[in-house]
Amino acid sequence: MLRYSKLVFDLDGTLYRGKETTPHSVDVVNRLRGRAELLFLSNNSSLSRRAMAERLRELGFEAREDEAVGSADLMADHLSSLREHVLFFPVCSPGLEEVLVAAGHRSVAAEEAEFVVVGVDVGLTYAKLAGGLTAMGHGARLIVANLDRVFPIEDGLRPGAGAIVGAFHGMGFEPDAVCGKPNPLAIERAFELRGMPKDKRLLMIGDQLETDILGAERVGVDSVLVLTGASTEADIDRQRIRPTYVVKDLSELESIVRGAGAA
Ligand SMILES: [Mg+2]
Repeated sequence: MLRYSKLVFDLDGTLYRGKETTPHSVDVVNRLRGRAELLFLSNNSSLSRRAMAERLRELGFEAREDEAVGSADLMADHLSSLREHVLFFPVCSPGLEEVLVAAGHRSVAAEEAEFVVVGVDVGLTYAKLAGGLTAMGHGARLIVANLDRVFPIEDGLRPGAGAIVGAFHGMGFEPDAVCGKPNPLAIERAFELRGMPKDKRLLMIGDQLETDILGAERVGVDSVLVLTGASTEADIDRQRIRPTYVVKDLSELESIVRGAGAA
């Protein structure tokens, strides 16, 4: 009998960095499958559930679409809970826009928008920010995929959605809703979409203190910080966010899952 039988994996910085998998991640995750239920829960706002599962499979992980939930899906779900067809102005990747449109929402000009949606946008321009400002000036609300400062790639870090939310903060606007980790409502909704209700046997595994670990703390489940991504050991004391376990890479995860790891 495993100590933890529901495992929630973050993706960027935890299972892979860019196109490279992190040490031991493929073997460990594939071995745990079958013995535990899995959820791949990412703040990445550019990928649909299907695209997330596909990327995982390309890298060697076994993964099904129903096991993957990203902040794009959570945003679409949140907007759909407000109204069937929402008009939005995108300051985000084409991927997020596609997920929202597929869910029945419509991308419109700034003046018509009810919501400005923000996610990582590698095509961000001054003109897009100006469009966002126009929409906000017309009474739109700000909905953001996450507040991540950065995300890890092969050779370092890249600015996250938080950098773009910061631009809106600089213009005097704060988000109405954050659709990813560490928002406990978003995390619990992801558990629900996966059909995996939280209990004492659920463990969240991630590389970022202020998203994965703080999120686990807020929903009241145990957590593992893996030091292959954004947060370092020194950050733990500095940020005062306490993971249940800290590991250098995922090779140490199986003993924790069995109940042999020291908390
Ligand atoms: Mg991460």
